Amino acid sequence: MFEKILIANRGEIALRIQRACREMGIKTVAVHSQADAEAKYVKLADESVCIGPAPSAQSYLNIPAIISAAEVTDAEAIHPGYGFLSENADFAERVEKSGFVFIGPRSDTIRLMGDKVSAKNAMKKAGVPCVPGSNGSLPDSPEEVRAIVRAIGYPIIIKAAAGGGGRGMRVVHTEAALSNAVIITQNEAQAAFGNPTVYAEKYLENPRHIEFQVLADEHRNAIYLGERDCSMQRRHQKIIEEAPALGIPPRLRDKMGSRCADACRRIGYRGAGTFEFLFEKNEFFFIEMNTRLQVEHPVTELITGIDLVQAQIRIAAGEKLGIRQRDIVMRGHAIECRINAEDPYKLTPSAGRITQYHAPGGPGIRVDSHIYHNYMVPPYYDSMIGKVIAYGDNRDQAIARMRIALSEMVIEGIKTNTPLHLDLLSDAAFLNGGTSIHYLEQKLANYH
Ligand code: ADP
Repeated sequence: MFEKILIANRGEIALRIQRACREMGIKTVAVHSQADAEAKYVKLADESVCIGPAPSAQSYLNIPAIISAAEVTDAEAIHPGYGFLSENADFAERVEKSGFVFIGPRSDTIRLMGDKVSAKNAMKKAGVPCVPGSNGSLPDSPEEVRAIVRAIGYPIIIKAAAGGGGRGMRVVHTEAALSNAVIITQNEAQAAFGNPTVYAEKYLENPRHIEFQVLADEHRNAIYLGERDCSMQRRHQKIIEEAPALGIPPRLRDKMGSRCADACRRIGYRGAGTFEFLFEKNEFFFIEMNTRLQVEHPVTELITGIDLVQAQIRIAAGEKLGIRQRDIVMRGHAIECRINAEDPYKLTPSAGRITQYHAPGGPGIRVDSHIYHNYMVPPYYDSMIGKVIAYGDNRDQAIARMRIALSEMVIEGIKTNTPLHLDLLSDAAFLNGGTSIHYLEQKLANYH
């Protein structure tokens, strides 16, 4: 096992990874920007290295600075967390070429899955059902594009092959709007991801977002750990996630889960990963694979009892998966609310000093957050400041516990989206379960 791991991330996930390392008796190196020098997890780390000024491009995305930090501290492995460099194949490659272990898949797997067109092709080959679409990137000729899209049938969604974070997508309802939409999305994709390639997919009008968690080792063992429902989204960004997903017939869950695990074996996948699907009329359609730990991993941990971060570290150290598929037992229900420093309805970010903080607790409540009384939320990064996760014997109990937890929680000095969560936790359609990815936007539109 590793003696020392460098954590190439910040915020709640840096703390989460640090906790896993400490439990395993592994020393940690925190790297941080100047803006995060005072963070508690930085002080708690065995060593810390400042890797640059506040802007991410000069710190958390600064590959040479991170590699140097690993060199000077003698770390053996690097955990990338989520976001930042976690799905950057060049980073993974540089890490391994510099003699460190990248805690994640091989760089060529990241590259394959990082391009959504090649990812869909690989999944189709592996027998995973995909959203029907252009079967590859859209050609230059507008006539050819029109023909392809006609065959798919309107409405369609144009997506950037290199897209991520809910950006680089555009829905098209009519042929009249097509050419323009393709050009705009290509330009946006070039500006945001440095790659103008776009493809088209059938736009599903009422789907749920359901994803499968997998774990695979270097020795071609792969298992799935059930699914999560992440349909409660705003601007294509998840805000509430839960596991298991309501109303999935157990046989269908097992079939899809096995397909995902098979696909892992086929592509030689290594580490933790997520297969994202849209689910409509009892059918699953693959949209993309995330080759990293996800924000919402705790809901899976709570229903399976498996620590996914520790599993990632063991796999990276070359260990065999200690568990077989039949050992995975799912019990109870878990829900996660992402707490964002933002105006709950206008969505404008709200950085600043937290003048009062009281964390919730009690049976079945887990809080993953790096914030504390007097913590200064910096304006430079993602607005998520933590996650409250509630576990119960069943969904109703998990929801009741979440409601109590959020009503106990005090965060003053900045705005958070907690009022929106409380609103949703007593929303009739949410309580009923199974709402589509459009539900939240539609509900909010009715407010105005
Ligand atoms: P990203 O990598 O940016 O997260 P995804 O491909 O995972 O992009 O899609 C993000 C979200 O966009 C999905 O959860 C869903 O809400 C919406 N979406 C993506 N593809 C489609 C589609 N074919 N039909 C309807 N909605 C879609």
